[in-house]
Amino acid sequence: MAARIITITSGKGGVGKTTSTANLGVSLALMGKRVVVMDGDIGLRNLDVIMGLENRIIYDVVDVAEGVCRLRQALVRDKKLSELYLLPAAQTRDKSSLSPNDVIQICSQLVETFDFILIDSPAGIEQGFRNAIAPAEEVIVVVTPEVSSVRDADRVIGLLEERPGVTPRLLINRVNSAMIKRKEMLSPDDVVEILAIELLGIIPEDESIIVSTNHGTPIAHDEKLLVSRAYHNIARRLLGEDVPFLALSDSGESARGWLSRLFRTGDR
Ligand code: ADP
Ligand code: MG
Repeated sequence: MAARIITITSGKGGVGKTTSTANLGVSLALMGKRVVVMDGDIGLRNLDVIMGLENRIIYDVVDVAEGVCRLRQALVRDKKLSELYLLPAAQTRDKSSLSPNDVIQICSQLVETFDFILIDSPAGIEQGFRNAIAPAEEVIVVVTPEVSSVRDADRVIGLLEERPGVTPRLLINRVNSAMIKRKEMLSPDDVVEILAIELLGIIPEDESIIVSTNHGTPIAHDEKLLVSRAYHNIARRLLGEDVPFLALSDSGESARGWLSRLFRTGDR
């Protein structure tokens, strides 16, 4: 079976694309899937750092595109998961050193070996975005519950409409239930209503993500944590399972039910 090619993108930068790519990669690999995570951020690579693989990089995606090395030489195997690989970005090159066709070519070589190809898109809608989106069959738009992030996501979703057959799904990151309760933050329901695309998952705000990033061990390895379970649930939804949305409070209710009761005014 050929790999599913999923691009993780956003409008605004710094909303959690790279974090989500790493954690979905780990979650899918923990479920026995063969996964390659590709860093689409040429010149600003950091997926390798989040995965703790920066010291193992010899070649990168630009080397592959330029024929300096073979694709398999550039793939870096994960420290813990034997079915998880990283295809690193080049650090010292600019975005124009890779074309959409290069990325399509590289993916076509990976589809037979893997179940999932996850592409971490850089911020913005320029060359790096076009490269990352070129081979995508599926797109995950990462957004934080902030007006600026939602507005920029809306723009990207608009651009994706030019790609027929690719239906973006939404990952809402850094959701803080205490702030939502105080009505200081947009709720997931609000965000879904504004953007009008399918919700794939909700990830809570959790500072252990920052700690895990600094250690180079994605949080999804620590299956006890709520934030980790949230990533595992998204992985399961990607595999077609019908997984209820996590309760972000301790009330035991599903986030959606609880949030909608808080925010819904009148009929909708
Ligand atoms: P992007 O790739 O979209 O630029 P990153 O994945 O690099 O964003 O994340 C930006 C910052 O936000 C990082 O410091 C990361 O650790 C932090 N972060 C991401 N998701 C969360 C979260 N759910 N809770 C707390 N911090 C987060
Ligand atoms: Mg990033």
